[in-house]
Amino acid sequence: MTEFLNTSIEYLKGVGPQRAQLLQSELGIFSFQDLLEHFPFRYLDRSTYHSVEEAPFADNYVQLKGKITGLREIGTGRHKKLFARFTDNTGSIDLVWFQGIQWIKPNLKPDIEYQIFGKPKLYVNQWNIPHPELAIYSEVRNKTGLQAFYPSTEKLTSKGLHSKGIEKLIGTLIPQFENKIPETLPEWILNEYHLLSRETAIRTIHQPNSEQDISSAKFRLKFEELFFLQLEMLLRKEVTSTKMKGFVFEEVGNVFNEFYSNHLPFNLTNAQKKVIKEIRKDFLSGKHMNRLLQGDVGSGKTLVALLTALIAIGNGYQVALMAPTEILASQHFESISGFLKDMDLKTALLIGSTKKTQRLQLHEKLISGELNLLIGTHALLEDVVQFKNLGLVVIDEQHRFGVAQRAKMWRKNTTPPHVLIMTATPIPRTLAMTFYGDLDVSVIDELPPGRKPISTIHRYESHRLRLFGFMKEQIALGRQVYVVYPLIKESETLDFNNLMDGFEAISRSFPMPNYQVSIVHGKMRPEDKDFEMQRFVKGETNIMVATTVIEVGVNVPNASVMVIESAERFGLSQLHQLRGRVGRGAEKSYCILMTGDKVSKEAQKRMETMVQTNDGFEISEVDLQLRGPGDLMGTQQSGVLNLKISNLSKDGQIVTLARETAKKILSDDPKIELPKNQILKNQIQRILKSKPNWGRIS
Ligand code: ADP
Ligand code: MG
Repeated sequence: MTEFLNTSIEYLKGVGPQRAQLLQSELGIFSFQDLLEHFPFRYLDRSTYHSVEEAPFADNYVQLKGKITGLREIGTGRHKKLFARFTDNTGSIDLVWFQGIQWIKPNLKPDIEYQIFGKPKLYVNQWNIPHPELAIYSEVRNKTGLQAFYPSTEKLTSKGLHSKGIEKLIGTLIPQFENKIPETLPEWILNEYHLLSRETAIRTIHQPNSEQDISSAKFRLKFEELFFLQLEMLLRKEVTSTKMKGFVFEEVGNVFNEFYSNHLPFNLTNAQKKVIKEIRKDFLSGKHMNRLLQGDVGSGKTLVALLTALIAIGNGYQVALMAPTEILASQHFESISGFLKDMDLKTALLIGSTKKTQRLQLHEKLISGELNLLIGTHALLEDVVQFKNLGLVVIDEQHRFGVAQRAKMWRKNTTPPHVLIMTATPIPRTLAMTFYGDLDVSVIDELPPGRKPISTIHRYESHRLRLFGFMKEQIALGRQVYVVYPLIKESETLDFNNLMDGFEAISRSFPMPNYQVSIVHGKMRPEDKDFEMQRFVKGETNIMVATTVIEVGVNVPNASVMVIESAERFGLSQLHQLRGRVGRGAEKSYCILMTGDKVSKEAQKRMETMVQTNDGFEISEVDLQLRGPGDLMGTQQSGVLNLKISNLSKDGQIVTLARETAKKILSDDPKIELPKNQILKNQIQRILKSKPNWGRIS
């Protein structure tokens, strides 16, 4: 049966070696199966007709019915064009041919009613329809029905494999495949969810008769795709957690207890307590922990990380905490050192700029076990950094570290250390379920008490004077202000100049000695950066002009105003992260989004979303809809998923259904061995074999 599907595309009538080559390189279509899984991206209702009058405004393909009322040829030789006047009772439009004129022309007869199909284009101020499909109306067979449109490429189009060409190939294939497309889902699932058979679904998605057909076919195919993905994730997770042994941390330990009773500066929120309980359970289970901790900016993840670390230390292990930037690592080091100042523990910082002699000392203290907690950046990943007994790795701001880098930390002990990944970029549930199906997820869904919500305001360039006035008011009240510029790549001169111009303008409007303005950007030497940062942290400067280097984690509670320049150039999650730098103290805080007077529709939507909500999860949902999951997660990961038909930002409900179904199957039939699930076993074995084991790490 599968032989048919595996047949090389070259052998399909109408393909041949040359086109086969192109289909492979352009669309990754190697076999009959690949072609059948090249799904339409939209449909056009061929049962209705536009009038000629309205055709140009359809902004799309149109179908017209009318007569040819005139022919004319313009130009000579290769530049010859054929214009045919096409008329219905609302008006006329020209049909144009640049090629094949000698075949077309004799077929265009007056007084015959034609059906034409094409896309109107504006050419030298006239609307016309180039190379339309043309049929004699009385001979049109399928006057109802939906036409599928397929993704294609320029190269394929030049070889006749535009959407229509691909449609034709698929049309050739469809009558051949009766009873040749094996079912992949068990009967009972088909029945329970009223799913079409795989064969019917594939036929229908290419040649539907109604909108209802399309949605049934899509539902079946999406469900299948997402279901196997979920099943795979759950199986991989099962394998990791049963095979991968983890250290057991028997007790909470006296280090934790001492800190908790004597040095905890405030009561934990219930959400923080809940998460610590979840982690504690993992530590007792004997299995390897791989947990993702999601919590909005300011929700107090650092403290959770610290308490978790104290459990590991109290059980005789070392801990590493890794952050994506030097500034952030340094801040973690400082705040954690602050928390631990009255405890007898050894903590150190290791970043790119750590001096060599210091490094060597650090390496020794790690190997001897003298150091309990090492905080740092990528520098921790280097092979020379070896521990005596690493028991826990905490990774802050997960999305900046690649999967491979995380794997490196695993190898720093014979039994892999437990892993806690913290992220402030809330991931929508559907995505988390799909991408991190094999991670356990904890959520801090509550902010520490007493936070005042941040007012977010969108202002245009023309309001700049008022903005400066407002900043002065706030500074007079003793607050500090961030002004952030986009610097997408630190090397981009234009961005850099904007930053510098902005800095100058601010320095002019906020002159010394009344005001102190700091600047921090990626081109500065780390020492200088740190110096300026510290001045701001200590309250010596009123304004911090910066690039997104301050995006993650920086904590200055007295800063209550965040001004984001050229806010239209930032993505939603970045805006939300930046806003999270304020609202950390007791004072009312503001986030001001400055944009040019005209912004794109999408940017407008981003600004509105920011103004309307402070909720990171809500923002991430909008972000997902605006950008699509690939961008949100980094292309590397979206490539791994390789979804053919599902859209994670729109198919959340199917993801949930798929996941619930997969879970239920594994709980009833953990080894997938019941006869009713036989079909699944075959399918999943093929899937597991065909993919590298990437899920183990993330
Ligand atoms: P994030 O989750 O963004 O990393 P942080 O860990 O930096 O947040 O915490 C933000 C601020 O809230 C810090 O100043 C921290 O000391 C404070 N904080 C954390 N937990 C609590 C709590 N339970 N009660 C009051 N303040 C807290
Ligand atoms: Mg943080």
